[in-house]
Amino acid sequence: AAGSAALALVGLHAGYGQIEVLHGISLSVDPGGVLAVLGANGAGKSTTVRALSGLITPTHGRVVIHGVDVTGAAPDALARLGVCVVPEGRGVFPRLSVEEHLRLISPNRASVREIQNRVYEQFPRLGERRRQLAGTMSGGEQQMLAMARAVALDNRVVVVDELSMGLAPRVVEQLYEHIRTLASTGVAVVVIEQFIHEILGLADHAVVLSQGTVVAEGVPSDIGETLEGLYLAAG
Ligand code: ATP
Repeated sequence: AAGSAALALVGLHAGYGQIEVLHGISLSVDPGGVLAVLGANGAGKSTTVRALSGLITPTHGRVVIHGVDVTGAAPDALARLGVCVVPEGRGVFPRLSVEEHLRLISPNRASVREIQNRVYEQFPRLGERRRQLAGTMSGGEQQMLAMARAVALDNRVVVVDELSMGLAPRVVEQLYEHIRTLASTGVAVVVIEQFIHEILGLADHAVVLSQGTVVAEGVPSDIGETLEGLYLAAG
């Protein structure tokens, strides 16, 4: 129910100008849960991320964080409530080092060390590369750096958008392990992906979007079967 969920979207409609893209999306994720939001190109995944992170304002429906209606709240307000989006394409600064990225996310000087400790504990690889420029790191290392904000600050809801893009399956599996660790600390995680089967091994719940509506939802084993059908239907 929306009351106990870390994040719930309730009958959400949203779009761009006169164009409605989401036609009543409902989903929820509990603290410590991992929800996969799946869909093909153009299904509405990015629009869902924009609506739940305050980048676009829903026209109907509600966004609820831990029982608090935050519909229409701005991105910075949602960030203060502990909602963190790890963007598609990673959004790291190629000419800044790992350490400089961590300075950027630290709210004050005193917290820099604490944030470094937390991030390097979770991602020892980033500790080894603290002075390396992000642009010279591997795709997987850049994705780790993009996830540092999610790990370092006390977030309650973390949305990871298309983490697997351009990465080898083995690297994706390592990053999934970090997501499991994050969820085990009670953070609610939403992973957005196109149809990749591996995600069903990570999520404990999944929804499938098509043309701005939820066409399937359930536990991964159910969704797996639905996906087979969708693959076949898509040819
Ligand atoms: P992808 O996997 O390709 O990123 P998606 O599932 O994230 O796809 P969205 O980006 O949410 O899909 O797009 C859903 C629909 O909204 C598409 O028809 C798209 O053309 C439309 N759309 C997306 N952004 C805008 C925009 N800024 N203005 C107008 N229409 C948009």
